[in-house]
Amino acid sequence: MSDSTPIFNDRNTGRSKLINPTLVLNCGSSSIKYALISEDESTRITGLAENLGLDTARIKHTTLNGEKLEITIPGGRHELALQKILALLEQYHFIAVGHRVVHGGREYSKAVRVDQHVLDEVKRLKILAPLHNPANALGIEAVEAIYPDIPQVVVFDTAFHQTMPPVAYRYPIPKALYEEEKIRRYGFHGTSHAYVSERASTLTDTKGPHGWLTAHLGNGCSASAVYNGESLDTSMGLTPLEGLMMGTRSGDVDPSLHIHLKRKLGMSLEEVDTMLNSESGLLGISGLSNDLRTIEQAANEGHKDAQLAIEMFCYRVGKYLASLSCALPDFTGIVFTGGIGENSSTTRARILDVMRHFGINFDADKNDELVGGAEGNFQEQDSSIELWVVPTDEECQIAKETRQALGLK
Ligand code: AMP
Repeated sequence: MSDSTPIFNDRNTGRSKLINPTLVLNCGSSSIKYALISEDESTRITGLAENLGLDTARIKHTTLNGEKLEITIPGGRHELALQKILALLEQYHFIAVGHRVVHGGREYSKAVRVDQHVLDEVKRLKILAPLHNPANALGIEAVEAIYPDIPQVVVFDTAFHQTMPPVAYRYPIPKALYEEEKIRRYGFHGTSHAYVSERASTLTDTKGPHGWLTAHLGNGCSASAVYNGESLDTSMGLTPLEGLMMGTRSGDVDPSLHIHLKRKLGMSLEEVDTMLNSESGLLGISGLSNDLRTIEQAANEGHKDAQLAIEMFCYRVGKYLASLSCALPDFTGIVFTGGIGENSSTTRARILDVMRHFGINFDADKNDELVGGAEGNFQEQDSSIELWVVPTDEECQIAKETRQALGLK
């Protein structure tokens, strides 16, 4: 396909079902994920702009009838990509735009309509999310420039965790750093933890209030303790580096590692930060990849470092879930989600093995069946807790919160 936006029309392919759609935008540092979702959440158009700023920049778009388009935009950045995306979607008359924003700091505990103050805050919080918040702000401004009359809402990754009590969100460091510098734990993946915990509460036969441990295991990983719809604790902290071992992020390490590596190897703080964010986790241990599929294959072929990477990953998840259970007044069950949580039944089984003192029993066959987008539970009758796999749907949650923030249906 050429680099000009194709003119096509989805007439007769279900456009009538895409009523009052909300456009959901997730602007990352070099990509934009988007979804146009109907008011009743039954119909959607999705796409991804990737490699922004590079010669290989392109938009992969799936139309309402499932047709795939690829639009190349060599060297194109966020503004150009958004112009093309908006041109593709204009014919559906979206009524609102919801943006995923990574950091909302202390001020935002729910989704809010964008005004100048909100936009300024998103930009100011760059200090806490240097890669993400500036891209999120770019997205808001690009839409504003083209559609100044369409209401925009920001849905913060941190907002869901604003219900955490101080005992969970404070770090044991001098008080002034919290009061003057807002150094505290914020938590991330909020829309995912909110979506899957709410969904599990809808699916279960157990009477509420429910206490869930939600394990979002993807390239980024975090776990949360959610009681009666409120986050009480979570594994990520001030930044999305704390907590579980991830694809390329280390998760928890000794905070003295920075000073040790500086003294021993002369590494700068920036170098240590890059190492912990981009060269660690599954990639760092396996020496192969951040992709669990590649690591699982190598492990099966006897690759020792790949085997250790999987073992460490599962051990750390199990250990975290065990400790997060302390936050719950009542423990109803565990909800697995994210690319790994939804697809790797062997990883789920290993994590549950780590939690062997909890009286958890599961049906291995049912566990193996819950892959590739399947939703369901796999605990045995006599298990102490329920075990759910719920495919996450952050776009749907963002669309819902956007409509709620605007007082729409
Ligand atoms: P996400 O960031 O949620 O897209 O998840 C990405 C992670 O999910 C990567 O580590 C993938 O290797 C992993 N993943 C996706 N599908 C599978 C699968 N079928 N088996 C094992 N891991 C998978």
